[in-house]
Amino acid sequence: MPGALDTAIDAAAGPGGPFHPAIGALLDAREEFPAEACAVLDGCGTARAYVPAELGGAPGGLPELVAVLRTVARRDVTVAVAHGKTFLGSVPTWVAGTDEQRRALARRVLAGAVVCWGLTEPGHGSDLLAGELTAEPADGGWRLDGAKWPINNATRGDLISVLARTAPEGGPRGFSQLLVDKHALAPGSWSPLPKEPTHGIRGADISGIRFTGAAAPADALTGRPGDGLDIVLRSLQLTRTMCTSLSLGAGEHALRLAHDFAAGRAMYGTTLLRLPLARRVLGRAAASLALADAASLLAARAAHHLPGEMSVVSAAVKAGVPEIVQLAVDDLAELLGARGFLTEHHAHGAFQKLERDHRIVAIFDGSTAVNRASLINQFPVLARLHHMGTYDAESLAATVAAQPVPPIDAGALRLFSRTGCSVVQALPAAAERLGALAAAGAVPRRAAELAAALAAEVAAVADAMAALRPAGRNTPPEAFETARRYERALRKRAPPTCCSPTPATSRGSPRSRPRWNGPWNSSDRATRHPRRRTNRCWRRSRNRRRS
Ligand SMILES: Cc1cc2nc3c(=O)[nH]c(=O)nc-3n(C[C@H](O)[C@H](O)[C@H](O)COP(=O)(O)OP(=O)(O)OC[C@H]3O[C@@H](n4cnc5c(N)ncnc54)[C@H](O)[C@@H]3O)c2cc1C
Repeated sequence: MPGALDTAIDAAAGPGGPFHPAIGALLDAREEFPAEACAVLDGCGTARAYVPAELGGAPGGLPELVAVLRTVARRDVTVAVAHGKTFLGSVPTWVAGTDEQRRALARRVLAGAVVCWGLTEPGHGSDLLAGELTAEPADGGWRLDGAKWPINNATRGDLISVLARTAPEGGPRGFSQLLVDKHALAPGSWSPLPKEPTHGIRGADISGIRFTGAAAPADALTGRPGDGLDIVLRSLQLTRTMCTSLSLGAGEHALRLAHDFAAGRAMYGTTLLRLPLARRVLGRAAASLALADAASLLAARAAHHLPGEMSVVSAAVKAGVPEIVQLAVDDLAELLGARGFLTEHHAHGAFQKLERDHRIVAIFDGSTAVNRASLINQFPVLARLHHMGTYDAESLAATVAAQPVPPIDAGALRLFSRTGCSVVQALPAAAERLGALAAAGAVPRRAAELAAALAAEVAAVADAMAALRPAGRNTPPEAFETARRYERALRKRAPPTCCSPTPATSRGSPRSRPRWNGPWNSSDRATRHPRRRTNRCWRRSRNRRRS
């Protein structure tokens, strides 16, 4: 699907088209919803990517969804956020709905329904257990009272998933998840809250909803009463992985704009692109994007093959990917000089728009700090399993294999990973294997040296994780730095020989299937035929370097 979508967006990016940067800039200035661009996505059947394959959705699972939304985000992050929200709103049903609920929602989404997700309330964001919106049993169904704000597509949405307090005392079992069809609510029992002006994604419908005795049917409940927090936290493992697609698209767009500017900017009798510093900035940004890309793809595939470890993997990529992409965007902004700041020059000010748009990715769906806190909570098990050297070799091999993904086993998503993070825990063994290959002359010695250095860094991180004493809410800032180091290790571990499904600077169609393999894999084939596979793998990267 990403290829066809890419073509359709290109066709809509001509002068006057909804994906032309001048139109994006105009809507941004007017804070107007990108309805026409969303219609292009509807016309391409983008909604199929929001629905599991077994319910009639696209076959490629989370990797395909990431590729699809990245394809949109590299033209306009606002459109990707506005359209992609339906996936977020639907995930609780995919994760915990009955077969009937899942089928019914799939039909609605495939028919174009917009679904949003209301977790945040005026008084509470990250602290989900403080939520005040209530759902009380009434007349065989539920009576909803309270507000959700700020919510993406709260006003335009047809359905809203809400986390509601169902036990007055609250607590981990005091909340439930409901999917509310706004069209089925009695008039006057709910009202939209006004659109909020925002720094970025200005055209998006960032508003809210207030329920006043709204009656929802019994089957609005997803899962069992009291399951709400569990469903939300497991659903977030998928949506947080999806969010990385927005960063990848924004980063790719930024790199393209900066490269085009540098290539065309005449100065000192040459061009900016010829200056070594400019090349360094572009090269560093491209390297950051390649790492972000590999980590994102790894996480998306891990959701299918290592669902029990997604509490670690999704938190690591949701914290790390937006951060390194934002740093790259900041560097590129400097390269653009005034053109990174002016709103009507160089592609109609597209750079400053994407720079503003991208900032939201680190905030919603769990801020960077929230995701790091989630990693910190898992430090004891991560440290212990790292020191034990255990990992799930078979699932890890499947994760990095160039094969279609099986359906996600939502029942296997866990609030806390019992097996830690195989991707990172396999690192020492992989580095050792690479060392042996280097000694045999099968791979360059430098590759083995870098792998050994990474393994040493991961060992140091594991020691730091083990040394941390549980401190509840008084987590010291140093622990967040350790979490950041852990994320970095995971990113670097994302197979260095991997080939991005969308080359970071390309405008071409992405492929949703990865082409990666090499001595970092723990696949049986790689172990059995190390030399053959390794040679092929290095040949490929040499060719890439040449091209
Ligand atoms: C444009 C936009 C769209 C949005 N769309 C949606 C939506 O569709 N659905 C929805 O439910 N919400 C949505 N939100 C809300 C968003 O998810 C919240 O803003 C976010 O969860 C943070 O909540 P908060 O702003 O209330 O900050 P708070 O939760 O009050 O956090 C304040 C600060 O504390 C930090 N912090 C939080 N926990 C910890 C911790 N454990 N340790 C250290 N620091 C911590 C945070 O990182 C932040 O810096 C949207 C917000 C915006 C701006």
